[in-house]
Order: sequence, then structure tokens, then C-alpha cells
Amino acid sequence: MSEFTKSPETEYRRNIELLKHEDRLLAEAYNLAVKADSRLADVIICPEYLDYDIFSSINKNRAERPWETENGKAEVHILFGDNSKMLPSLEDVMKAKDDLTLESLLKSFIDMIGADDYNLVNISKLCKIHILLHELGHVSDFFDNIGNPDEYDEVIEQALWQYNAPIREKKRLFQEQEVERLAIITVADNISLEEYKKRADDVPKRLDALNDKYTKLLEDVAVPANEMARRYCAMPHEQFANNFAKEVLMSNPEFVESLIEL
Ligand SMILES: [Zn+2]
Repeated sequence: MSEFTKSPETEYRRNIELLKHEDRLLAEAYNLAVKADSRLADVIICPEYLDYDIFSSINKNRAERPWETENGKAEVHILFGDNSKMLPSLEDVMKAKDDLTLESLLKSFIDMIGADDYNLVNISKLCKIHILLHELGHVSDFFDNIGNPDEYDEVIEQALWQYNAPIREKKRLFQEQEVERLAIITVADNISLEEYKKRADDVPKRLDALNDKYTKLLEDVAVPANEMARRYCAMPHEQFANNFAKEVLMSNPEFVESLIEL
């Protein structure tokens, strides 16, 4: 341990203070996570803040693998402040189907504590707590795999490759359309003037037909956002993180209950 590396106990205390300052319940959730996996005392929690452009803030909640950080410690980056615009709404949660998405997980926590009026639950707090626990769940997974980092990275790479398959297929189909479009508007060398005119006259008609096909393709292959969300949550390492969060919350129902606004 270098002289700059802080002990797990120091990190833990620093994390608790930091989270407490943001929200007492976040500190409590972290404490419950450390009870479930004591190795989580030794992570660095890094506050993040929303950018003006909300879409560039999407990946701010994340966990960094200890074998990839400068000081060799796992990091959990968490959005602080009001990020309610990025969180699922109460309506989204209420209509969630029984699948793997964040909305359905939140719904299961609310059902667990038997809150019959969803309006009473502070959904944005519950969501923030779930996100913190989810990222800590990733870290727990990293610690389990710290002996074989290359193997682990490879497995994640593979999972992401699979996850992106529909998007790749969509891109491929569009590229084929583009090639066809270029083939139509490019008139090759070495053809007679007569042939050139014939092809040129033909171009608008053929492009129209292609545009119809293109529009249909868009409708056919667009991957719905909720389908991608489901695919994302179905990746084994994402399931691991969600299960970790779920286990922590499920074994502490009185904590979830404290999210009901009385
Ligand atoms: Zn995740």
C-alpha cells in the first residue's frame, strides 16, 4: 500500500460523510450494501453533476473497475443534485410490465412493502438509492473477478456485442440502402450517351421506389427503446448488479418503508 492509498476504514468514513451530505438515505443505503459485502467499504464514491445537455449525462452513473483506475481502487460515480428529469416517472413505474427493466424493479420494491398508494412513495429517492446500490453491485462483481480481469473484460465485451446486435443489423440494412442509392445515382464511365440518358431519366423513379422501401425499413427495423432497455438489463453483469440492489432492499424492507412519505 503506498502512502497515498487510504485504508478501507478511511474510505468508508469518507463515503458515508459524502453521501450523508447529499441525502441521509443514500448514506444508509451504502451502509446496508457494506453490510451485505464488506469489500464495498473500500471503494471511492465520486459525485457527478448534470450537464446542461441532459443527454450527455446519461452515463454519469457508473462503476469503474479497480484494475482500470489510477490508484487501483474501484470507483462508483453517482449523480448528485436534482436529476429527476432523468429518472423514470411514477406513471412509468406504475405501468411497468413484469420484465427486467428499472421501472419494473422499482415497482417490485413498492409492492414488497405493500404500499397500495404509489403516490405516497418518493419514487425519485427510491430510484437514486437503487442506482447507487446497482453500481455498488457492479463493484461487488468486480471484486469477485479481480483475479481474472482479462477474462472478465472479455465476457463483458461479448455481452455488449450481443446487446448491440439489433442496432448493428439496423446499421447494416441502412448501409445496404445507401450503397443501392449510390449505385442508382452514379452513372458509370464507358457507356454510350444514349445509355447514359436512359439511366439518368430513370433515376428519379428508382430513387422514389427506394425511398418508399427506406421508409418501410425504418418502420420495420427501428429497435424500440424499451426493447433495448430490456436487452441491456438482461446482460448477466447487469442482472448481477440489479440482483445485488434487489437483495439489499429486499432484506431491509423497513428501509424501503422509510421512503413512504407520511
Ligand atoms: Zn449497470
